[in-house]
Amino acid sequence: MLTLALSKGRIFEETLPLLKAAGIEVDEDPERSRKLIFATSRPDVRVVLVRATDVPTYVQHGGADIGVAGKDVLLEHMASSSGGLYQPLDLRIGQCRMSVAVRDDFDYAAAVKQGSRIRVATKFTHTARQHFAEKGVHVDLIKLYGSMELAPLTGLADAIVDLVSTGSTLKANHLIEVEKVMDISSRLVVNQAALKLKREPIRALIDAISSAIPNAIAS
Ligand code: ATP
Ligand code: MG
Repeated sequence: MLTLALSKGRIFEETLPLLKAAGIEVDEDPERSRKLIFATSRPDVRVVLVRATDVPTYVQHGGADIGVAGKDVLLEHMASSSGGLYQPLDLRIGQCRMSVAVRDDFDYAAAVKQGSRIRVATKFTHTARQHFAEKGVHVDLIKLYGSMELAPLTGLADAIVDLVSTGSTLKANHLIEVEKVMDISSRLVVNQAALKLKREPIRALIDAISSAIPNAIAS
């Protein structure tokens, strides 16, 4: 049996066509179900639904053999855990960027130039810390678990590091993007022990999925 960990919403929706190309169809719509484990059209493959941030944990510790997680989530996960995760494929789904944003009346460039300490609220504290250290920007990081846009509006922080795709959420909250941290997409992650024990089916799945992605580079 191969267990595949996905998160509800965007990642599930965008992974479905890739699975379909690999001959795997989920037997039910998870948005209309309370189930957490789903059978598929392949008797040897099942899908489990977990929180996006829990996908790397499930795969690392063998609760799932394979998973799909954003680079944002993977970088934070890897900062506090060691090994066990193999990342064979960029799926090119869940594409967005991680950026620094501030209130439209906050002069970020001036604050950086003056060497002021900037208060930054984010879910991505490890990646943010590394980004500002590389830029030589002094920051105090404030860990949040959601609704980052609210932080600069309430005075909790001067800036946020968050994921941006169209920018419409920032705009609606009078925030402007001032710096890109990195481009983000979702990757396939595989449990290293499972890759050894179930090499054939996992390899076949990686190959089938990669041939459904334009210009995919599998390693
Ligand atoms: P939860 O809702 O459980 O707290 P979450 O908010 O991280 O988790 P999603 O919003 O579905 O869950 O995001 C899952 C992943 O999708 C993110 O880790 C990121 O890689 C990607 N993602 C997030 N926002 C966007 C976006 N605006 N456009 C494209 N991909 C995105
Ligand atoms: Mg979300």
